[in-house]
Amino acid sequence: MAINLLDYDAERLGQLMVQLGEKPFRAKQLMKWIHQRGVADFDAMSDIAKSFRQKLAIDAHITPPAMMAEQQAKDGTRKWLLDVGTGNGVEAVFIPEDDRGTLCVSSQVGCALDCSFCSTGRQGFNRNLSTAEIIGQLWWANQRLSFDAARIGDATNDDKRIVSNVVMMGMGEPLANYENVVAALRLMLDDNAYGLSRRRVTLSTSGLVPQLDRLREDCPVALAVSLHAPNDAIRDDIVPINQKYPLKQLLDACNRYLEKAPRDFITFEYVMLDGVNDLPEHARQVAAMLRSTSAKINLIPFNPFPNSSFKRSSRDAIVRFRDILLQAGYIVTVRKTRGDDIDAACGQLAGQVQDKTRRLERMAETRPILFKTGGDT
Ligand code: SAH
Ligand code: SF4
Repeated sequence: MAINLLDYDAERLGQLMVQLGEKPFRAKQLMKWIHQRGVADFDAMSDIAKSFRQKLAIDAHITPPAMMAEQQAKDGTRKWLLDVGTGNGVEAVFIPEDDRGTLCVSSQVGCALDCSFCSTGRQGFNRNLSTAEIIGQLWWANQRLSFDAARIGDATNDDKRIVSNVVMMGMGEPLANYENVVAALRLMLDDNAYGLSRRRVTLSTSGLVPQLDRLREDCPVALAVSLHAPNDAIRDDIVPINQKYPLKQLLDACNRYLEKAPRDFITFEYVMLDGVNDLPEHARQVAAMLRSTSAKINLIPFNPFPNSSFKRSSRDAIVRFRDILLQAGYIVTVRKTRGDDIDAACGQLAGQVQDKTRRLERMAETRPILFKTGGDT
């Protein structure tokens, strides 16, 4: 029972079929059952020969992480806490907007990169998520959203009520868990699985240059880069990976990435920290720095968390910063904070070991739907 089929992208599943003495096309059938219909029980796979189903049931299983808790914020944002074993939990967040429904997916339990303004980073690193645990977040979101649609008798395929976009912006640095993340990305794009277009799947990275170059070749999805600073001195301080891969190297890698998809742009994320990186001169430095890159800029008001030493920039500082970039010709958006009443906003995800009990208690205080561990409601 060692093989969890949620760990397998199309290529590996095809190889597995051959090893099991089956035709490779069986992989397609299986993927449709698992990822499109959300079926985890081989018995229900009616167009697959019974003998093969029996063989699969001996050698393999389909096991997403167990759902531990679910919460809904006032603005419709939903957060799921998934059990990934040995007391660890990870969070996935669904954000409905007017024209889309975006799932924010985690890639690691904690993060080793230790950015000073990030709650996940402050908690340290526990381990990488497996492909099954990453894709399992999307699997679960689809289950829960279609369950709700069925419950209220609404079968529309309205983009804002289904997962139409995925952002790898939850807990962890996705490029530090390269193999498992790329297999999950491939499943997101696969027409026999989730069938999302390359532009609707965004990976956010703090800037691991060698892995960025690999991703460009392996699976060039839309890219968001956590810039957060106008120069190396400030970035060294708040995004420590900058000491290893400074801005020049990072931007060169971004430009190489764009060569692969010349009509694309890169979204540069910039967390607005009061008095740290939000001055007009910083905006001018950012404008100059990104001049030769096809860039959009997304300003993220800092989301506070307990014991953080930063303050969110004032509304005025954010507007001033934005206007300087707009005048320099950039497309600039200011991210709306979503789901902060359930700690689901950027950088607030921390569904990890130590404080899980407290978080579950807090979840129960808001809008609790608690699941039994291992439950498959
Ligand atoms: N590790 C990846 C992806 C996860 S974080 C990365 O760093 O890009 C997703 C985004 O949220 C990143 O841009 C990150 O810098 C930002 N973020 C982290 N902590 C935050 C906070 N407290 N407030 C606002 N944004 C934050
Ligand atoms: Fe890790 Fe991203 Fe948080 Fe930095 S911002 S600590 S890279 S999750």
